[in-house]
Amino acid sequence: MGTFDGPRIERAVREILAAIGEDTSREGLRETPARVAEAYARLFSGLHEDPLRHLDISFDESAEDLVLMRDIPFVSVCEHHLLPMIGRASAAYLPAGKVLGFSEIVRLVEGYAARPQIQERLTAQVADALHDGLGSRGSLVVVEARHTCMAATGAWSPGTTAVTSAARGIFAEDPARRAEVMAAIT
Ligand SMILES: [Zn+2]
Repeated sequence: MGTFDGPRIERAVREILAAIGEDTSREGLRETPARVAEAYARLFSGLHEDPLRHLDISFDESAEDLVLMRDIPFVSVCEHHLLPMIGRASAAYLPAGKVLGFSEIVRLVEGYAARPQIQERLTAQVADALHDGLGSRGSLVVVEARHTCMAATGAWSPGTTAVTSAARGIFAEDPARRAEVMAAIT
């Protein structure tokens, strides 16, 4: 895998502008390649790192009750069209003696969102991190997002959100436990 190459993005954006028939030298577009490169640096900042690696996992033998973070906002980029998907994620896990700080759960979502993504994978990655990565008894993640690429494909209907969920461990095995947390999320 390569690294982030800002100047290369600038060249490519200039090329795209020329290819759609724009005058790349006109006032409003002159700084656009640099601005897009800057935006991509931020939007794809999670691509070359494993978010879990940076998290501060603390040990607390007595921690075994549910932790739920609701409505974590995120911006990601759909890998099929390179257009933004904007949404929120709710993430729950049942600790087995190891816990994450609340802000770390937010960082986990942001880290996996900051790369070319599909919503299903984002949901699964957060659920896996909170189960296998953290070592919990189970995790349940629900993601809701609006995909701006639906406008590009002509399927746009304002207000439509896609909802995905992923359950691991006890929440995958026990429908009653899953339903309980689902009710708290939605
Ligand atoms: Zn798309």
